[in-house]
Amino acid sequence: MLQDIEPRVFRNAFQNRPADPQDLFLAFQDDNVLIRQDKDKLWYPSFADFSVSHPQLRQKARFLFTIDELNYYLVEEEGLEAVPGWVYVSNKRFRSKNWRSFIGIIGWQLHSWYNNHKFCSRCRERLQHSEIERLLYCASCGMSVYPTIAPCVIVGVYDKDRLLMTKYANREYRKYALIAGFNEIGESLEQTVCREVWEEVGLRVKNIRYYKSQPWPFSDTLLAGFFAELDGADTIRLDEDELAVGVWLSRKDIPEWHESISLTGEMIEVFRRATVEL
Ligand SMILES: [Zn+2]
Repeated sequence: MLQDIEPRVFRNAFQNRPADPQDLFLAFQDDNVLIRQDKDKLWYPSFADFSVSHPQLRQKARFLFTIDELNYYLVEEEGLEAVPGWVYVSNKRFRSKNWRSFIGIIGWQLHSWYNNHKFCSRCRERLQHSEIERLLYCASCGMSVYPTIAPCVIVGVYDKDRLLMTKYANREYRKYALIAGFNEIGESLEQTVCREVWEEVGLRVKNIRYYKSQPWPFSDTLLAGFFAELDGADTIRLDEDELAVGVWLSRKDIPEWHESISLTGEMIEVFRRATVEL
């Protein structure tokens, strides 16, 4: 999945340390990220690459995280693409299973969070950056803001050798998916599973079993995957605002899933291959 970057090691512990010349940085312009023009891969710049054109860049950089022994920083600076050899490319490049994509999308998530939280929503003062943790705070009224992470469930509803597969309504994404939805106030994740399955397809489930979780930085969500067995009638009553298709597919009819970044894809594949214990 997206977050599986072994043998690379991702460390998200916050450090309040100045950048060294060999440290790397991420720079974004809207939904685009700065990379080396002549590399096929997402090749991020080091401060040394910009030491002549932008000698003050290191002083203005914000620590992001560490991969292996290398620290990554966030830079907000105009005109970096004017330096020969560097270009902004779409962050759609992050939708691949690759440790560089993972770095990019986590960086983009933090960049967006900082960008969307410049002022206190309670008293309108400018938010300050904590020097001891990944936190924004208001020195005037004391409010604290942590990175946005919203819990969601993904549910593989099954009945013997059939899996309930869906397609979203009104979305660019056209492949099969599983039932999914946000956790609401006052709910356990298991209760979210029951509610979402009922709301989206009108079915009851039992034997809810946790499978795995996955960070999904594209939408600031944490996905928790569950398998749940059909309980009672199998007649699907589709929520047509949310879904265009809802069908029961036998293992032999489930299309093979070729992309490997998403939890949804992995759950469909392990069910299709009957390699998950239910
Ligand atoms: Zn405030």
